[in-house]
Amino acid sequence: MLCAQCDDSARGTCRFCGRGVCATHHSNLPFVVTLFGVQPPQAIVVGGTLWCGVCRPQPEPIAMPELNR
Ligand SMILES: [Zn+2]
Ligand SMILES: [Zn+2]
Repeated sequence: MLCAQCDDSARGTCRFCGRGVCATHHSNLPFVVTLFGVQPPQAIVVGGTLWCGVCRPQPEPIAMPELNR
């Protein structure tokens, strides 16, 4: 697999979008594993998740009422 930004060999894949990222272009970002609770909502987060630096994970979960049948 190659880095999505420079075509160097990738050291891993972005946790969020699956792009390949090399040692130069990888970044870290907290990854929200799961959300629970309502007031207030709480999240279990893993810090230092491999991130490509290109995609833009949204900081808040996006409501998808159309999936709630
Ligand atoms: Zn790269
Ligand atoms: Zn990504």
